[in-house]
Amino acid sequence: MKKVSLIIPCFNEQDALPIFYVEVTKTMGSLKYNYELIFVNDGSKDSTLDVLRQLAAKDNRVTYLSFSRNFGKEAAMYAGFCNASGDYVAVMDADMQDPPSLLPEMLEILEKGNYDSVATRRVNRDREPFLRSWFAKQFYRIINRISDADIVDGARDFRLMRSEMVSAICTMGEYNRFSKGIFGWIGFKTYWMPYKNIERVAGETKWSFWKLLKYAIDGIINFSQVPLSIASWGGISMTLCAFFFLIAIIVRKLVFGDPVAGWASTICVIIFIGGIQLFCLGIMGQYIAKIYLESKRRPHYIVSETNRDNIDKVR
Ligand code: UDP
Ligand code: MG
Repeated sequence: MKKVSLIIPCFNEQDALPIFYVEVTKTMGSLKYNYELIFVNDGSKDSTLDVLRQLAAKDNRVTYLSFSRNFGKEAAMYAGFCNASGDYVAVMDADMQDPPSLLPEMLEILEKGNYDSVATRRVNRDREPFLRSWFAKQFYRIINRISDADIVDGARDFRLMRSEMVSAICTMGEYNRFSKGIFGWIGFKTYWMPYKNIERVAGETKWSFWKLLKYAIDGIINFSQVPLSIASWGGISMTLCAFFFLIAIIVRKLVFGDPVAGWASTICVIIFIGGIQLFCLGIMGQYIAKIYLESKRRPHYIVSETNRDNIDKVR
């Protein structure tokens, strides 16, 4: 019998977990697959870890990894991927926004053998603040233009993959992780399954607008060098403009003998150019900061407690 590994990153999910567990075991129990549930406790401050210990005590298909602090969802997914042993591996949220009821259909699609992964895509952004959906749309438009990673608008992290694809993801050990980009970058054939967005069952979202904006900027910087060339092209065109202005002024002085007037406008131009220089330095700074973090080779996560002994505790 084939085995399915489900990876569930959990950050303060004490209320959602029991509901999730009941649902997911109901769905998986009705299918002809072995399965394991890998819960990754991402430094929760509530009693998520207690809930996980209880689940693991009564069900030996439950594995939990508890991080020594909050390392972020990306690190939690990475830990799950690197420790999953199934023929098929799925990542899902603990809050039921990624309904387990979709799993049978996803498995069926992979079984047919034409695809390597089935990913989900929300088709509506109802009840989401207007500004947030607008920014999200712009983000997808921009990143697809300027990077090689093919990133689908509305794609969720919820997806089921063949183990080959998961091994490929594990080889991408970069410190700055942006899964939506990584999934797109490694290629493989993906079937996109549309579904309606669902509200979470309990608890609240951990993504503030600013956290999302930062994530979006990280995504662009991790998967594109275009911002760097914007800086250089902007610089070149400004220099050319300034050069032509200079010639115009010299000609005007020689032909008409005008005295130089208007220091206010000069100051404006100086400030403007100064601003652009700082902006470009900032863009470069972003990339250098990434190189800095990458070069330290710090682990992605540190596991402080788990119920298995064959787990990569630091990676
Ligand atoms: N999550 C995590 N670490 C974090 C933030 C979130 O492991 O730092 C988990 C969270 O417990 C949930 C999933 O990632 O299972 C998605 O988070 P959330 O539901 O808050 O995001 P949303 O669905 O609103 O995008
Ligand atoms: Mg959610």
